Amino acid sequence: MINLEIPKKFVPLVGQAHQVAEEVFRPISRKYDQEEHAYPKELDMLAALIDGMNDGSDLGGAGAAGVRRTDNGDGGVRNGSNMSTVLGIIELCWGDVGLLLSMPRQGLGNSAIASVANDEQLERFRGKWAAMAITEPEAGSDSAAIRTTAVLDEATGEYVLNGEKIYVTSGERADLVVVWATLDRSVGRAAIKSFVVERSNPGLKLDRLEHKLGIRASDTAAFILDDCRVPRENLLGSPEVDTSKGFGGVMQTFDNTRPLGAGMAVGLTRACLELTERLLREAGVEVDYDRPPASQSAAAAEYLAMEADFEAARLLTLEAAWMADNSKPNSLQASMAKAKAGRTCVDVALRCVRLCGSLGYGEELLLEKWARDAKILDLFEGTQQIQLLIIARQLLGKSSAELK
Ligand SMILES: Cc1cc2nc3c(=O)[nH]c(=O)nc-3n(C[C@H](O)[C@H](O)[C@H](O)COP(=O)(O)OP(=O)(O)OC[C@H]3O[C@@H](n4cnc5c(N)ncnc54)[C@H](O)[C@@H]3O)c2cc1C
Repeated sequence: MINLEIPKKFVPLVGQAHQVAEEVFRPISRKYDQEEHAYPKELDMLAALIDGMNDGSDLGGAGAAGVRRTDNGDGGVRNGSNMSTVLGIIELCWGDVGLLLSMPRQGLGNSAIASVANDEQLERFRGKWAAMAITEPEAGSDSAAIRTTAVLDEATGEYVLNGEKIYVTSGERADLVVVWATLDRSVGRAAIKSFVVERSNPGLKLDRLEHKLGIRASDTAAFILDDCRVPRENLLGSPEVDTSKGFGGVMQTFDNTRPLGAGMAVGLTRACLELTERLLREAGVEVDYDRPPASQSAAAAEYLAMEADFEAARLLTLEAAWMADNSKPNSLQASMAKAKAGRTCVDVALRCVRLCGSLGYGEELLLEKWARDAKILDLFEGTQQIQLLIIARQLLGKSSAELK
């Protein structure tokens, strides 16, 4: 029988994450939305708490660093760190997405390290906060088009990186930046590797911070890599350019992180729905689960339709995380979850603003902010269109060259 309840061992973690969201994130949500680029110092002590959840436990934790795939050993099914991380993120994003993205040591780069690093690298970068730099001015959705180069200097045993990176979440605040660069542009995808660069490296120059529509608590940086030297042992994964494997190594990160992106959207969607349900109830609109939507008020029927979308997004997200925990190939499910959850989040947030009228649009409540925050969840880590493209390729058995 399929059991769709939260696994018992994760109940305390979900409870803790919800408490953090309610008691720490929500009260400072508006403040850091208005003070864009100010560092939310309240998060420092929380990061230590999350570290505590991650350490010494096979349950993973509530942060993005927990998404490593490990062998079950016994061949049985299990709920592991991918599931616990997604559950934690759903709760924290119920609180505030921008603040979740600002949590020290829980960056996208941490997920990349957790996903691809060898044991020695994992140990060396433990406890550091890592951002992820893929996007460039000429390469967004098409990450295979990146131009940043990495050339091995045999004399010093260092890679020399040159290029430009934009839209790096936590780029200003992180200790490390995981940079995608190509060893040989003529070879294509197989030559793209990820390199861990210390933020203090003089060759990694912060160019600017972006001003944004939403998630303003989260800093978004642009960098110039100018003869940036990194030790050869900072290359994540294999240095071999294996054209038979294509993009495999670096893309593996996304199979683990897209369920997390989907989880962010699920958390924010639930926040919108819960507040809207309360406001509707206070306005005298009851949602009745025992009657068909068509026989209820238009507002109640719309609410029920949104809840159904939310539930579908949530289940897809949990499925993708569960597959990662059980070492099953989940590219298809990860993209399905991200596509459904991202689209649902944007759609639900805007419909909730509409249903709640002036209360939804004003700054007294957080709905208008959530509607702005929602958009990024259908954009970063692959836009809606890109997720649909990946899904189509998988279902039709087409390569990226055959279906663009
Ligand atoms: C706040 C924020 C934070 C970010 N954080 C990070 C980060 O930490 N690290 C990082 O590396 N990047 C990050 N990004 C970058 C993000 O991942 C890219 O913006 C995203 O991948 C889209 O790339 P683009 O902006 O260049 O858009 P484009 O690729 O130029 O796309 C423009 C439009 O065309 C559509 N499109 C493109 N190609 C196709 C196609 N083949 N078929 C159909 N439609 C298509 C897209 O869906 C989109 O609607 C961040 C972006 C933002 C806004």
